[in-house]
Amino acid sequence: MAKYIFITGGVVSSLGKGIASASIGKILEWKGYKVALVKCDPYINVDPGTMNPYQHGEVYVTDDGAETDLDLGHYFRYTNSPLAKYSNVTTGKVYQNVITKERRGDFLGGTVQVIPHITNEIKDLIRQGEKKHNADIVLVEIGGTAGDIESLPFLEAIRQMKNELGPGNAINVHLTLAPYVKAAGELKTKPTQHSVGKLRGIGIQPEILMVRTEKPLDAGAHAKIALFCNVQQDCVFEARDVEDIYEIPLLFKKAGLGKIVLKKLDLKVRKRKDSKRWAKAVRIRKTAKRKIKVGVIGKYITLQDAYKSIDEAIKHGAIANNCGVDIVKIESDNLEKYNPEKLRSVFKGVSGILVPGGFGVRGIEGKLSAAKYAREEKIPYLGICLGMQIAVIEFARNVCGMENANSTEFNARTKYPVISLLSEQEYVKWFGGTMRLGKYKCVLKPDSLAKKIYGKTEVMERHRHRYEFNGVYKKTFIRQGMDFSGLHPKGNLVEIVEIKDHPWFIAVQFHPEFKSKPDKGHPLFTGFVKAVLKLQDKQGG
Ligand code: GLN
Repeated sequence: MAKYIFITGGVVSSLGKGIASASIGKILEWKGYKVALVKCDPYINVDPGTMNPYQHGEVYVTDDGAETDLDLGHYFRYTNSPLAKYSNVTTGKVYQNVITKERRGDFLGGTVQVIPHITNEIKDLIRQGEKKHNADIVLVEIGGTAGDIESLPFLEAIRQMKNELGPGNAINVHLTLAPYVKAAGELKTKPTQHSVGKLRGIGIQPEILMVRTEKPLDAGAHAKIALFCNVQQDCVFEARDVEDIYEIPLLFKKAGLGKIVLKKLDLKVRKRKDSKRWAKAVRIRKTAKRKIKVGVIGKYITLQDAYKSIDEAIKHGAIANNCGVDIVKIESDNLEKYNPEKLRSVFKGVSGILVPGGFGVRGIEGKLSAAKYAREEKIPYLGICLGMQIAVIEFARNVCGMENANSTEFNARTKYPVISLLSEQEYVKWFGGTMRLGKYKCVLKPDSLAKKIYGKTEVMERHRHRYEFNGVYKKTFIRQGMDFSGLHPKGNLVEIVEIKDHPWFIAVQFHPEFKSKPDKGHPLFTGFVKAVLKLQDKQGG
């Protein structure tokens, strides 16, 4: 039977519960335990796949094609937790299941209620992962902030679970904030007291507190929090702002968080695992002398979380190349009309261009300008999903002479539909969960850049799109110098394109960013950064 750690947050949102949960998971792995992480999201959407990035941030996709919360990306980057459909439980999914059961007649005669029906469903969904993967410890992060109406059924469910599991088998970790009030010159503990009070009011007494602060948590504040929140002194941890999120597990490890968690769960260190590789990655980020500058051309750039996995994967590529990275976010709307002069000033000092995924017509022309600029100026280009479709459209228009070539997503009546709907998508009417999702095999062409980058002939990568390269145009493109270096064997779907007469121009229909870790960067990002460094060397930068 697995042990459980429930992680909640209080005072304000955006405290970094996902990273805190992932960090605890990492520390437990270092102590020899197999962990699984689950995220509970109190919104009524069945999954975040239908949400605008401005509402939600990035949608993280798992191997089995689940469209999930971006915290699962943190779980992947930090731990070896299995991640699948069952790793993200939403209110929408819970109600959908309960209502289906009700319609089927499963509750015949009964009145269906939040307690016990909704809470039972939440508990069943949370426990699915444990059964499938034999995890020793399951970490369950509850989205939202203590006191929200929406998260109440989840809190009630974990309260019940802890009681059912019995003492020593489940604990609660609560992440709070101690704001610094300048006028008083001190950290304030009251919001933390209130937040824990809220939890205790519904029957949850946290064993461990992690207190976010911008200043050191002095002995007085520390003692006060322990006393008023009814938590042992050595179980109150300061979680100070840090520059690098990858340092967090190391800092908590040093502070003894792992030891306390194991003690509370009646466990001993099983088999110490090395944290050296992780520490080395962190060290490189701190001490690297060289720095590269790459541009990410997107349309959701004002939202920090919209391209989370992309940003992280670029950082991982830099770690693998022993350098630092400066990521410049460029608003595609600003590049609409192709103007080399303007582009030169926008891309000043930028030695690599990345066009990430996206949906809808807004910003497309700007991305096309960026791709053309990268192709003509021989700047390393990495296109991801929409970024591949953009590379194809640009090549069609400006190299193959197909005027106004487009994707049918943006112009259904284009004369040259070089990107068109996947055949399996033609009759799809509903938006939710209906794209080409999850992992697919991609066979790499010998002698291609892709093959060189991956160092193997077959890879599995994750997808999330409806449109694809239109095979009708393949021959023309090949004649003009575009190589199709990665294909999905079934139906020969184009997964990777590259331009032969270019030092490093590669674009992929899938999302490699979902499979990159700080101490194990994804080959495409490692290769991209390497190419950028090479160009920078050439430019004498
Ligand atoms: N909008 C494009 C499609 O649906 C690309 C999707 C993406 O970039 N994830 O095919």
